[in-house]
Amino acid sequence: MNSKQKLVLCLLAMAETIEVNKQYLTELDSPIGDADHGFNMTKGFKAVRDKVPGVQESDCGTILKTVAMTLISTVGGASGPLYGTAFLKAAAVVQGKDEVTREDLSAMFDVAIAGIIMRGKAKQGDKTMLDALLPAAAALKEALEAGEAVSEAFARAQQEARKGAEYTKSIAATKGRASYLGERSIGHQDPGATSSYLLLEAITKTLKED
Ligand code: ADP
Ligand code: MG
Repeated sequence: MNSKQKLVLCLLAMAETIEVNKQYLTELDSPIGDADHGFNMTKGFKAVRDKVPGVQESDCGTILKTVAMTLISTVGGASGPLYGTAFLKAAAVVQGKDEVTREDLSAMFDVAIAGIIMRGKAKQGDKTMLDALLPAAAALKEALEAGEAVSEAFARAQQEARKGAEYTKSIAATKGRASYLGERSIGHQDPGATSSYLLLEAITKTLKED
């Protein structure tokens, strides 16, 4: 299987994971948000699942750009433009390419996160998806540079994302809707950090099956 086919499988697995966890993500968004993260993400990724087969023969950049535009136009909440920007930035790294190299993977992750930061102006410790994604990106880069298999590198990234999502329980939100609650947001896990972890879990599972 080539890396473009793997990319497509990862995107479909992401859609499935989000759908399976719809209720869970909405439950996390209830005490510190407006109880729509599961709904928002499911709506967006169902649309992704419907769109991807139509572009799977295009280059990796076009596939990811399609994902980005679909998320931006279908997800209602703050998470839509943030995830959409992430995919759009990652798309630029592999524009016109039919293969994704190890170096591309690290770069895609880095620019995706830079896009989220540019758009949302959050930083580590603000209790957002970045608390899962930043440690995950660091772990991914380190593992790839150490010569580990891509599936192993993603497994490490996933572990760090999980820890990051759990860490959000211990801190107060200073960005997004949950920040309205301030200190009262402590004790609750951030829904966006959790969906980021779940997306990485979907990638990891897909790559391990290969
Ligand atoms: P909304 O908050 O508009 O209802 P969602 O519920 O879909 O949107 O998404 C909420 C998630 O978005 C949060 O849990 C958080 O992880 C993420 N988020 C919100 N604002 C920001 C931001 N400025 N930067 C990064 N992530 C953010
Ligand atoms: Mg919400």
